[in-house]
This record gives sequence, C-alpha cells and structure tokens, in this order.
Amino acid sequence: MQMTPAGKQLLLRAGAELGLNLEPHIPQFSTYFELLSEANQTTNLTAIRDEAGIILKHFVDSLTCLTYPGLVEGMSVIDVGTGAGFPGLPIAIVQPSTQFDLLDATQKKTAFVARVIQTLGLRNARVLWGRSEELAHQSVKRETYGAALTRAVASMATVAELTLPLIQVGGFVLVQKGAEVEREVAEARGALSKLGGQLEQIFHLKLPIIGDARTLVVLRKIAPTPHQYPRKPGVPAKNPLS
Ligand code: SAH
Repeated sequence: MQMTPAGKQLLLRAGAELGLNLEPHIPQFSTYFELLSEANQTTNLTAIRDEAGIILKHFVDSLTCLTYPGLVEGMSVIDVGTGAGFPGLPIAIVQPSTQFDLLDATQKKTAFVARVIQTLGLRNARVLWGRSEELAHQSVKRETYGAALTRAVASMATVAELTLPLIQVGGFVLVQKGAEVEREVAEARGALSKLGGQLEQIFHLKLPIIGDARTLVVLRKIAPTPHQYPRKPGVPAKNPLS
C-alpha cells in the first residue's frame, strides 16, 4: 500500500510540530511505509497497521528523540532492539551524517530492516543481528558508541544493562517510554550505579497531532561499566539488577 497524499500531509504537519522540515524526506518515508505495510501482511512485524498509526506512532514517535538536543549530527549511535527499525531508522533518514547501528535479536526483523536500508540507499545505517548481552562483550563494540536509543524493549533496569555497556563514558542513552516512568526509574537506581550510569533528565512530551503522553528518559554514562555486565543473554530481563 502506498502512502496517500493525506498521509504525506499528516507526516509533514507532525514533523513541523517537532520543528522538523520533512519535505525532502517524504519519498523515503513513503517507501519505508510501503515496505512496512507490505511485510506486515505476511510477517507480524508491528501491531500498528493503519496509515495514520504507522505515521504518527512509529515514524513521528521515533523522531521525537530529536527533541533531545544532545542527539546531534555526526555521532555514532546504536538502536538496541530496533524491531522494524524504531526509533533508529526514521532518525537515520533525517540525520544523514549520524552513523546508526540497528540491533535486533530476531532475524526476521533484521532482514526487514536490511531491506529497508538497501531500498532507501541509506549509507549511514547498518543492521546487526544479535543480542546486546553478547555484542557488549565484543571489544570492538564495547564502550564505543556516543549514544544508544531504545523503545519498547524492557523495563528501565533491564534496558540500562543492555545499553550502558555499549556507550562511551560521557555518552548517553535515550529511553522512550509511555506516560508513567517515575516508579521504573526509581527502581533502576541501584542498577544505574552498578553499571556506571546515572539518571540525567526526564522529558515529558506529547505526540504531535494526537497528543498522547510520552517520556524520554536520558541516562548518562559517568564511569566505565564493570566487566561482569551485561550478564548472560536473558538474565538482565529475567532478573533485573537492583
Ligand atoms: N524498538 C522497536 C521494537 C520493540 S519490540 C519498536 O519500538 O517498535 C522489542 C524488540 O527488542 C524485539 O524485536 C526483540 O527482538 C528485541 N530485543 C529484546 N531483547 C533484546 C536483546 N537483548 N538484544 C537485542 N534485541 C533485543
């Protein structure tokens, strides 16, 4: 299914609310939309399938990360648990000089993301199939990224263990969450200090057009992560640090 003229207008309007001019990127979002709705007919990539939903709750929701001023052009960023490419791929489309690694443990998802990257001709995005618990112990990747992004992957303490080991000291993690985060954040305090991280800021925002409440949690890496973290695959989710 192609993106309709009304869909393109919606994307432009929502982008403008975020201070972004998406006009030059409409062809790429439109192709991404087409590939996603096509793939969704045979593979269960995402639960959101209607045009406005894909545009606002996937594309635009991903782009809300750009309201955090630290996510600047030229960085090296990893999206942990990218699924069908969110939030990393929409940001890669609008920030061509930022390098993105899009990581997911599920091969049917990374295969889809690889197809989108290839079809769009994106030179600043690359897909990694694997688990962050393993990637973070590879010396070529550990503590090498300026930032990590993550949406809808796990609770705060688990996400901290899956992302902080990959980030350079001084870098940050942007965690996209729904309306309520305070309790999760409070419960992650112990985990953050064990991993060399600290809570920097919680931004409350509203999704353009529909106004759904969202939060962006910024974790700052302030010290190297001890080598025992992350623990073995599955353990950070099963038994979160406290
Ligand atoms: N970020 C996407 C997908 C969320 S679903 C979105 O918001 O739409 C969570 C995804 O995280 C799944 O695709 C799953 O395969 C991946 N995932 C969960 N734990 C992971 C891990 N430890 N390493 C890599 N990927 C992981």
